[in-house]
Amino acid sequence: MFSNDFEKEMLSAARFGGSRTAFRFSWSFSRERLFRQCRRAFFIDCFLSQGGWDPSAHPLIRSAYVEKQRLPFPLWLSRTVRDGIREGLKKALAQPPDARRKAFSSGFLRFVSGKLFDLEFSMSRKEYLDDPKRPCLRECVEGEKLPFSALRPQAVSAFGTAHGLLTESPLFQELLPLDVMNFRFGDDLISLPFDPCPVWFAPGLIFFLSNKFHMLLPSASGAEGETPGFPSAAAVSAALFDLHIRSKWKREEPTVTHLFRFGPDAAGMEEISPAPGLPDRIRSGAGEMFSLIRPDGSVFFGDFPKTGEPGGCAFCRFAGTCRMLDEWAGRHC
Ligand code: SF4
Repeated sequence: MFSNDFEKEMLSAARFGGSRTAFRFSWSFSRERLFRQCRRAFFIDCFLSQGGWDPSAHPLIRSAYVEKQRLPFPLWLSRTVRDGIREGLKKALAQPPDARRKAFSSGFLRFVSGKLFDLEFSMSRKEYLDDPKRPCLRECVEGEKLPFSALRPQAVSAFGTAHGLLTESPLFQELLPLDVMNFRFGDDLISLPFDPCPVWFAPGLIFFLSNKFHMLLPSASGAEGETPGFPSAAAVSAALFDLHIRSKWKREEPTVTHLFRFGPDAAGMEEISPAPGLPDRIRSGAGEMFSLIRPDGSVFFGDFPKTGEPGGCAFCRFAGTCRMLDEWAGRHC
């Protein structure tokens, strides 16, 4: 953890000290992508934000943590639909077969409308300012701010589309008669043991069907965050899911990942092939990130320059903290 006397530490040592030791470092696709896009954004996300959950933390640290918690609208939609499907299925599977469809719809719609209400409540009262864990949409508080009232109808429409597409899909007809033991409802975030560091990913709905493990990955259009030179986030999730099933369940059969799009630009189900060569990408990416952590576990601000890519800052979620760092550097360096 950073010391409370943060500025003094930076001034005297001309570096950001930290307790994040190399052996606790982990790899995730979003982390690797951020590392490639902008080293400073990576620094803010991985190191500067540590300890920002404390309201009395230094304003730079608190700002990094607050910005890290805000979700873009498509990602909020994707997660809410994923969790809504889980809740709907939990309700449905407790019912006799002929009551399951209705129970699913009721469970799903109740869950997503509850999440929307909670988001609206947090946004209207600005609860996220005091408690950054409360829901907050990035689009409503950064840059060209959108009023929440403009996004609300889009959320309602997306939930209706997701529900309609899913319940009409052939896959849903196969899911509904299954036993609850065919589902893994508790896996929100999965850690894979890997050398040189653990790997994290957020799976979709995991289930066992026709002697194979499957994953249903809901996605509002654009939520996968396609980046030139990178495999898609969905393909990476499919590859990590495959690795997870092989290492945890010792299964050799290939897994199946269904990307379920429900956004205005793309809708429907498609099977996604795992991104090839992911273990090598993880090892080389983790190795590069590790090389910037000193043997004592500290990292140096100067090792994390701003992106030089034209337009690279356009959608940066850490723009506010980045400006604060510039002002701080102007005063002290
Ligand atoms: S605003 Fe630009 S330079 Fe600053 S952290 Fe974001 S991407 Fe990097």
